[in-house]
Amino acid sequence: MANEQAHPITVPFLDLQPSYKASQAAIDEALLRVARSGWFLLGQELKAFEAAYADFCETKFCAGVANGLDALHLSLLALGVGPGDEVIVPSNTYVATWLAVSQCGAVPVPVEPDEKTYNLDASKVAAAISSKTKVILPVHLYGQAADMDAIRAVADAHQLRVLDDCAQAHGARYKGRQVGSLADLSAWSFYPGKNLGAMGDGGGVSGSDEALIDAVRVLRNYGSRIKYHNEVKGFNSRLDEIQAAVLSAKLPQLHAATQQRAQIAAQFLQGLQGLDLQLPEVPAWAEPAWHLFVVRHADRDGLQQRLAARGVGSLIHYPVPPHLQPAYAELGLGPGAFPISEAMHREVLSLPLWPGMSQAQVEQVIQAVKASV
Ligand SMILES: *Cc1c(COP(=O)(O)O)cnc(C)c1O
Repeated sequence: MANEQAHPITVPFLDLQPSYKASQAAIDEALLRVARSGWFLLGQELKAFEAAYADFCETKFCAGVANGLDALHLSLLALGVGPGDEVIVPSNTYVATWLAVSQCGAVPVPVEPDEKTYNLDASKVAAAISSKTKVILPVHLYGQAADMDAIRAVADAHQLRVLDDCAQAHGARYKGRQVGSLADLSAWSFYPGKNLGAMGDGGGVSGSDEALIDAVRVLRNYGSRIKYHNEVKGFNSRLDEIQAAVLSAKLPQLHAATQQRAQIAAQFLQGLQGLDLQLPEVPAWAEPAWHLFVVRHADRDGLQQRLAARGVGSLIHYPVPPHLQPAYAELGLGPGAFPISEAMHREVLSLPLWPGMSQAQVEQVIQAVKASV
């Protein structure tokens, strides 16, 4: 990538400072509270955050874990996925969605996205189901909910479970329902750059089935419910007290932050109309969390360079689809196996968007894109 720019970047792709400042007093207090408590794992901070986040998701339970990848992995294990099983995944997602399946010894079976929403095309799922399929694993990519009712209908028809990857969708809604309450289990990442980000790694699993959430809680702590008694071969995957306290301090701001993202997205959608540029398409039933604002352009790399020359940062989510990664050479899925996904990966570009972005920065992005397409 050509990263040596003659021009300084005045609109970075992402700036996390405003999100700290929006909750600074509460975060500072939370950090000190944990330091002084002398209790750092599986304590009151975790309990409090789990309850608050379950409420936010309009579901009953949440279990904190160490990161988003573990949230997916432990959820799949809780749903009974093991060696030889198959899990339906999107062909276009961050590789973590696939890795979680592989970590269970199971095989990710990719399905192409809908070209307009970039989310799993429910009408193509049935053809990918075999006698080994256990779970359908949609991703709410870029912060917009996948068509969960359609996916659920396919799952019910084949007696499969649904786990959704919510890592990009904190606060998104689907037909008026909160993402995190729509599947058998829902996996979250609290990586710093996500819409609800910790000050380090973090993850969680939400849902209304107490037995499934309980299974995740046992798996995250060495397979143990009672200290030194191990029911299953578990893992060490805990959301620590500092991260839980930071997340609790930031959670009250999440709704306002999501609204700010939506306002900026609305300005982009308005200001970038009528250009030779595919804008995000939002079905009537979706209220996206706008984790990313992704445009599509035939000369994506040129667009990225021209934006940089005008001081505007951007990123590509993602440059290489999972099936073309060396890590998945074993599947033998070469170029051409998933053409919709492959074309997307050549053409998508994410514009800067974060809560606290100034009006001048929003306008600079719009002007720079207009001058660059
Ligand atoms: C970030 C992300 C993950 C992984 O989360 P980590 O906390 O970084 O492990 C998984 N899936 C998607 C779609 C993501 O964006």
